[in-house]
Amino acid sequence: MADTDGTAEEKRDFIREQIRADLQSGRHQGVVTRFPPEPNGYLHIGHAKSICLNFGIAQEFGGHCTLRFDDTNPAKEELEFIDAIMADVKWLGFDWGQNLRHASDYFEQLYQWAEHLIDAGKAYVDDLSADEIREHRGTLTEPGRNSPYRGRAQAENLDLFRRMRAGEFADGAKVLRAKIDMAAGNINLRDPVLYRIQRKPHPRTGAIWCIYPTYDFAHGQSDAIEAVTHSICTLEFEDHRPLYDWFIDNLPTPSKPRQYEFARLNLTHAVLSKRRLTQLVQERHVDGWDDPRMPTLSGFRRRGIPAAAIRDFIGRLGVNKTDSMVEVQMLESCVRELLNKDAERRMAVLRPLKVVIENFQEGARKDLPAVNNPENPDAGSRTVPFTRELYIEREDFMEDPPKKFFRLAPGREVRLRWAYFVTCTGVIKNDAGEVTEIRCTYDPATKGGDAPDGRKVKGTLHWVSASAAVPATVRLYDHLFATPTPGKQHDFLQDINPMSLEVLGNCMLEPSLADWPAGKTLQFERLGYFCPDPASTQGNPLFNRTMTLRDTWAKIAGQPSAK
Ligand code: ATP
Ligand code: MG
Repeated sequence: MADTDGTAEEKRDFIREQIRADLQSGRHQGVVTRFPPEPNGYLHIGHAKSICLNFGIAQEFGGHCTLRFDDTNPAKEELEFIDAIMADVKWLGFDWGQNLRHASDYFEQLYQWAEHLIDAGKAYVDDLSADEIREHRGTLTEPGRNSPYRGRAQAENLDLFRRMRAGEFADGAKVLRAKIDMAAGNINLRDPVLYRIQRKPHPRTGAIWCIYPTYDFAHGQSDAIEAVTHSICTLEFEDHRPLYDWFIDNLPTPSKPRQYEFARLNLTHAVLSKRRLTQLVQERHVDGWDDPRMPTLSGFRRRGIPAAAIRDFIGRLGVNKTDSMVEVQMLESCVRELLNKDAERRMAVLRPLKVVIENFQEGARKDLPAVNNPENPDAGSRTVPFTRELYIEREDFMEDPPKKFFRLAPGREVRLRWAYFVTCTGVIKNDAGEVTEIRCTYDPATKGGDAPDGRKVKGTLHWVSASAAVPATVRLYDHLFATPTPGKQHDFLQDINPMSLEVLGNCMLEPSLADWPAGKTLQFERLGYFCPDPASTQGNPLFNRTMTLRDTWAKIAGQPSAK
């Protein structure tokens, strides 16, 4: 795989320091990590942080990382999500090799361990309802109360638990709970639920089970089965660690992993909660999980953001223990930096205005060389056809321009990129007084864009030959949320940016874009970075804007530009 952060430097953060210490002290001989997504949604940029960390560490220390689907809750899981997650991890540049696992692979073992706890007098079957259990749990300031069923004898617990498994009781009628301490300061230790009855077919185990382990009961033990050495998760699980350790200490697990917590990634102008992302998709505020405005990896991919830019961004963030909000501009500047280096340039006109070159012969055509990427000579060059009728960008012409307007206006001379100097000689308008066409002359001596007599022009415009142009649809995307922290003041849906998508149906592309490769991001000169949508076809090209060339939001917000 490629570098994870663009530097060969050894990374230093508290997790990697811990691992180095563990290897040095001999506590571990090697490193095993895991990335454990719950298959109830698509992966987002926050997951990317966890993926880069877990897979990255495994690579750096010569260990391995398991991709483990945490599929303990059959109610919300779908095969679509499992497939999407695997595709996204691969796209991000990581490989789990042989190490694909599912928590459901361990259902039988977990069940046996639950019986083990019952045998040891450390778990009991409780008949309280979910509400009653909540009510008995107490609060941060008050201890919980024991369930009346807590004192059940071991044999009765075992019998009831086996009958739960056999399907003798209704959903929710009973649960299995750990017997720890209802007065524990840490609420997670107040007899947490280990098993629930849930008659719901599971995507992998079908109807075999009608009881399912909770996340807490499955997670650490799955780590132990996989011999995970460093179980890395986000800070909200810090309070679960004593419970994680309690299971590991009280069960005959084949290994004793330890959990470490780091700060999750939060990004401005985005939501990263799966509940909210699901709502955006289900209520059709966006065009699916891979809508280019979504902070999902599939959305980024469809928008044309390279995986390397995401790895670079995550690498720059580092790993720490303080929750913070990262400005989306930082991600955008990583994307721009990479694309400026890598993306080829082409010309496209998004809002065309016709230009007629009066002194260029009708039907004639000159193929002019154009450099593909000034930042990278290896990208070579192509030719662009120059003809009597051209298109320029509507906003590059003003009939009555202010002083600082250096583009085209009556009597003004500008350079057409890779072509000639042209001078505007006239304007044609429709009945409504709108400019429909402009007339120009060109100076044949300025071929390539330089005047032999040394005269200068202030503006250089992009353009496309009208007769050779490829018509296309272009979608201009902007931040999905207008405010940096959606949902802070009111419902997050109210913060949706009404201008987050503009569709332009009459764009004109230079001919070399007729068969542009799928998934390859390029720069439309002066306009931004763009990428063909997966739905784009040769007959109907459809491009998505990946990003503008500069950060327009910095200006709006009055902040300094991200770069
Ligand atoms: P939910 O939003 O439903 O709580 P989740 O985002 O925690 O779900 P999981 O599938 O459980 O989703 O996450 C898989 C892994 O990714 C977990 O180890 C989790 O800690 C990590 N992860 C999730 N969100 C972030 C984030 N914003 N930053 C860093 N890591 C994250
Ligand atoms: Mg989770």
